[in-house]
Amino acid sequence: MSERILVTRSSMPPYEEYIEAIRPLWDTHWLTNMGIYHQKLERELREYLDVHELSLMVNGHMALELVIQSFGFPRDAEVITTPFTFISTTHAIVRNHLKPVFCDVKSSDGTIDEEKIEDLITEHTVAIVPVHVYGNVCNIERIQEIADKYNLKVIYDAAHAFGVKYKGKGIGNFGDASAFSFHATKVFNTIEGGAVAFSDHKIYEKLYNLKNFGIRGEELVTEVGANAKMNEFAAIMGLCNLRHLDGALAGRKEIYDFYREEISQIEGLSLLDENSDATKNYAYFPVVVKDCYGSSRDEIFERLRENNIFARKYFYPLTADQACFKNKYRDADISNARKLSKQILILPMYEELGRGNAGKIVSLLKKKGGR
Ligand SMILES: *Cc1c(COP(=O)(O)O)cnc(C)c1O
Repeated sequence: MSERILVTRSSMPPYEEYIEAIRPLWDTHWLTNMGIYHQKLERELREYLDVHELSLMVNGHMALELVIQSFGFPRDAEVITTPFTFISTTHAIVRNHLKPVFCDVKSSDGTIDEEKIEDLITEHTVAIVPVHVYGNVCNIERIQEIADKYNLKVIYDAAHAFGVKYKGKGIGNFGDASAFSFHATKVFNTIEGGAVAFSDHKIYEKLYNLKNFGIRGEELVTEVGANAKMNEFAAIMGLCNLRHLDGALAGRKEIYDFYREEISQIEGLSLLDENSDATKNYAYFPVVVKDCYGSSRDEIFERLRENNIFARKYFYPLTADQACFKNKYRDADISNARKLSKQILILPMYEELGRGNAGKIVSLLKKKGGR
């Protein structure tokens, strides 16, 4: 039996490097609560992501949930978002007692269809939560124009967009805030972790309260906060992984370029559009399986699985179609999203995948129709 190839493989620094880096914790016994490594990672990531302000969080979901909470929207207000995403995006809205209004996506790149947003706006709309899905940048200018016109907040789910630059600026500089994920499966990880990027310092204070019980002094609690702090072991993992990130990205780029070259020649398979104003982080490799390919997306998925290759159907089903949300919210036409979710397949992509494995995956994709 050949080795199992999963859709990704978590980046880890050399063992000795991490062990050496955590050794000082045995002197200080300071394991969490915004310690020195938390502070250091916050500084280094602010620089790497090219953003004004950053607040580290225990994970990407809490980053998104708490930054939505930080705006203090009225209960039951409406938030326009995309169903073509990880369930976390919709959960973060609903757990804030807000109503998601699902907007369709563009088949060309999977991001929210900015031309369909305006029709969904009502007097109850307070925000737009778009997703830079697979690191593909949303139509930032148009979304901001709509938000300005209707006085809405824009909070990006940037979980996939770590390190992406748009028109020379860090992706976290757009909208009112952006939430990143540093989960083990993401392109940069702190085991579990995340962060919110923003420009308004008032958000920093608010998020600090929300992630640390609202504690502002030994005898002072000013707000009903949660606990969403990143611990020192996670922060050190991030500091180590950050040092190796350029190498990891170079490795991913090689696989990405190879896939792109080979797969663009296979009839019936297509790739999503790339935005020439944006850089890439090579986080995912989505392939669209068209009707004319000869096998369905699910058939390819199975064929790969029989060969011990575990691609993923991100994002199928749509969040709007999940048991917990189905038929609960205002129905918009999300037919492009539904169609894309039935055609999309994410191929394995990580630094150590190797040309040999990538080649094997490509040749399985070339065997159309039969097995
Ligand atoms: C991973 C992810 C999240 C949640 O991040 P966690 O760090 O796993 O909590 C949110 N949104 C999207 C689109 C994601 O892929």
